[in-house]
Amino acid sequence: MSKNQIRSIKGTQDILPDQSYKWQDLENKIHATMMLYNYGEIRTPAFEKTELFDRGVGTETDIVSKEMYSWIDQGGENLTLKPELTAPVSRSYIQHNLGSQQPLTKLYYIDALFRRERPQKGRYRQFHQFGVEAFGSEHPEIDSEIIAIAVTLFNQIGIKDLSLKLNSIGSETCREDYKKELKQFLKPHFDKLSKASQTRFEKNPLRILDSKSPNEIDIIKNAPQISEFWTKDDKDHFDELCSYLDAMNISYSIDPKLVRGLDYYSRTTFEIISSSLGAQDAICGGGRYDGLVEIIGGKPTPGIGFAAGMERILMIINDANTKENIKIFIVGLGDSVRPVVAKLTNDLRHNNLSSECDMLRRSMRAQMREANKLGAKYAIIIGENELQQNQVQLKDLVSGKQKTIDMSSIVSHMTSLSF
Ligand code: AMP
Repeated sequence: MSKNQIRSIKGTQDILPDQSYKWQDLENKIHATMMLYNYGEIRTPAFEKTELFDRGVGTETDIVSKEMYSWIDQGGENLTLKPELTAPVSRSYIQHNLGSQQPLTKLYYIDALFRRERPQKGRYRQFHQFGVEAFGSEHPEIDSEIIAIAVTLFNQIGIKDLSLKLNSIGSETCREDYKKELKQFLKPHFDKLSKASQTRFEKNPLRILDSKSPNEIDIIKNAPQISEFWTKDDKDHFDELCSYLDAMNISYSIDPKLVRGLDYYSRTTFEIISSSLGAQDAICGGGRYDGLVEIIGGKPTPGIGFAAGMERILMIINDANTKENIKIFIVGLGDSVRPVVAKLTNDLRHNNLSSECDMLRRSMRAQMREANKLGAKYAIIIGENELQQNQVQLKDLVSGKQKTIDMSSIVSHMTSLSF
């Protein structure tokens, strides 16, 4: 590597043509699925006011306290590259008063996010998420639809070994009671908790349930469960959600430790993992955030959504699709032939036939090699002789058969073939 060479930033990736067609394929499937479910695409800016994330994600979260790319711009504003999409989408929902046009507003996005995490396989500093957000309904029907979207799409694109984990963290009253009880339970174990969990003990004890440390998992295993604190409405909401999932044949397991630590989250939480993924096994996380819209300045509005990691999805379905080949390669030989090759290639493209020709002035053999390398089905060969006689040679690169065709009819001939 030369000393002058500039490399990409750690934790970021170039998506090259041998991969980008897989992204396009996945993106097309997402757009098609979202059309079936009647969700509209939303695109928000790459950066927002930092305050949006302070308020909408919460200053005590890892994302906001440690991972944001923030800076003061030349005008003195504190700005941040978006580390998640729910807050920006909610901001946009409020700003454009989308709820007045549609009492249930159903949105989705495919976007790049930025978090200064420790990079590893499946964890990057710039990565992409596909997500959905639905605003306006507190009823479990919409919870079940949101979960069905994720499960349907992942099944359709061939992700195996999926498992859906489901929980409800109840409403606000339920959580306040539960937090008190959980703290009582954790108190005798306080000294054995990690530094991070000790800090969370006061501010956000629910998040201790999320711990990945074996020692803490052992302590937590006997902790009281939030379901014991559900109100009747919480329980009805969860039971109804389960009945809709059962009706749609969506299997799930209830995980009482699946919590979201922030106050504006309520009731439904879910996560989809795939055992094909290794250590970073979560493909998708979601839940209800009935308090969020109000926190960032809108009218109280229930909301629910999920976000799925595109890189992780692609890691699992990596070999599933093949790239489409170029259909026709035009082999030209000789200076006077070049304008004719340029015109013919252009005409074929105008007729929706993917075509390529040589731009490196290579030999006939090298051009034929290139045609094969690109997987072209046909080569159209034009030399000085053909040009003089207003003809071309059409070679079927699969059968090897070759025939002469009039220059004037080659485009219509090619459009009549099946590829
Ligand atoms: P979150 O927004 O943290 O709930 O994450 C939702 C999904 O995004 C996860 O289930 C992962 O699939 C994906 N994800 C989160 N963080 C990263 C990251 N740093 N790199 C790649 N994918 C990620």
